[in-house]
Amino acid sequence: MATVATSTYSNFINGEWVPSRAAKTFDDRNPANSDELVGTFPASTAEDISSAIQAAKDAFPKWRLTPAPKRAEILYRTAEILIERKEEFARDMTREMGKVLAETRGDVQEAIDMTYLMAGEGRRLFGETTPSELPNKFAMAVRVPVGVAGLITPWNFPMAIPSWKAMPALVCGNTAVLKPAEDTPLSTYHLTQALSEAGLPAGVLNVVFGDGPGAGAPILKNRDVSLVSFTGSTEVGRIVSEACAPTFKKCHLEMGGKNIIIVMDDANLPLAIDGAVWGGFGTTGQRCTAASRIAVQEKVYREFVDKFVARAKTLRVGDGLDPATEMGPCINEQQLKTVMNYVEIGVAEGAKLAAGGHRLEKGALAKGWFHEPTVFVDCNPRMRICQEEIFGPVVSIIPFESFDDALEIANGVQYGLSASIYTRNVNNAFRAQRDLQTGIVYVNAPTIGAEVHLPFGGIKNTGNGHRESGVAALDFYSDWKTLYVDYSDRLQRAQIDNSE
Ligand code: NAD
Repeated sequence: MATVATSTYSNFINGEWVPSRAAKTFDDRNPANSDELVGTFPASTAEDISSAIQAAKDAFPKWRLTPAPKRAEILYRTAEILIERKEEFARDMTREMGKVLAETRGDVQEAIDMTYLMAGEGRRLFGETTPSELPNKFAMAVRVPVGVAGLITPWNFPMAIPSWKAMPALVCGNTAVLKPAEDTPLSTYHLTQALSEAGLPAGVLNVVFGDGPGAGAPILKNRDVSLVSFTGSTEVGRIVSEACAPTFKKCHLEMGGKNIIIVMDDANLPLAIDGAVWGGFGTTGQRCTAASRIAVQEKVYREFVDKFVARAKTLRVGDGLDPATEMGPCINEQQLKTVMNYVEIGVAEGAKLAAGGHRLEKGALAKGWFHEPTVFVDCNPRMRICQEEIFGPVVSIIPFESFDDALEIANGVQYGLSASIYTRNVNNAFRAQRDLQTGIVYVNAPTIGAEVHLPFGGIKNTGNGHRESGVAALDFYSDWKTLYVDYSDRLQRAQIDNSE
């Protein structure tokens, strides 16, 4: 395996690390200190993407016929490499993405968990057998690979999300081209290196770095790509969906969220406050499942607000590599500006700013994209800050009277990823699970924190019906093939010869 000694990185095409043919690069910088260059990566163009897709296409016939347990052995070895290098990978991830070390360790761990899970699937990949309606006839359905997969990922889970896509794609027998987000290429580079070291054959996974229009869009147009899995914003998801339509690619979209925590009068309040602080400000609010809305019932509203605001004000913001830091920076200057813009919008809409509201740029924070943990209270659920995804450390608190009001507020947004309710009333807990319009519902836990063996994804403008993770992912990364064997030695006509 080729190693790279400097901080100039290459694409991974057909088992080789190669620069972009256009010889253009972009910088990967530390959002906690933009003077720090983490690495330089190829700004790939359509020509590079085309080579990567060709490599994946050429590798497909052999990989498709490699027994799934053999494919899985490579994944087991990959997981072991990730375990060995977890700390190094987590530190690099904090340097390029900004989230605190405990969280980047969690991100690498999620990749490990997903890799083991999908390695296990190599000896399962269960299909269906079922009795035929006719005598002396055998019927079953098996999973077959789809072909070349195009995988496009965001920056907020830079190793976990690429692994959510790559591992099921590979174990199912597909080959792939992966285009990670331009803000966090190094973590995907590490994941790719682990797969390569583990013995993944040339061309089975190809990785191209670059921005969306330059390196992502050509994947969507290419006729040799049969399937696309995208995670990112709803705006880009719509572009992806439209670009996949003309060639009828199987297309999976995981997009934005506007998630809510509902706190009922009967909740364990200290637990709800802990959960809301973690759900709202964990990963600097830059999780698709972040709790950016908190709806609190009247009787406990004041107490919740006072305590939550006090906690937000004391969160330590800084470099994620410092063990004392509780919240890191925004990913880049643009995202920081978006956050600052939403603070202005919230104030203009008449929401009460109870904590934060400003960029942090004094002393050690001067070179980073830091923003105060920010809390708006007494919000109206129709305000833009309660409707639109901000993707930053901004939480809007909304008072409500009844359980039905809470449901209406929760469901009154375009997104449908994750929702949570804190209550000790079992009836309300079950009604919430039934009636909240989201792909994920938590009871007495915040909106964030997925486990890899369960389906992950959203409804409405968050998702298009497919799911990451668990067995559900296999349904996306494989096609069903239905097989019938008639051993009766005579013509048997389904629905005709057995209905007399
Ligand atoms: P983004 O939509 O800007 O970019 C996502 C990926 O798409 C990147 O790799 C980008 O380069 C690529 N891209 C951009 N334009 C493209 C184009 N025209 N053609 C092809 N590819 C293109 O999102 P982001 O800023 O990286 O991530 C944040 C967003 O991701 C948030 O909206 C967040 O909610 C969402 N997200 C969703 C989930 C989920 O599972 N639902 C998980 C994580 C993040």
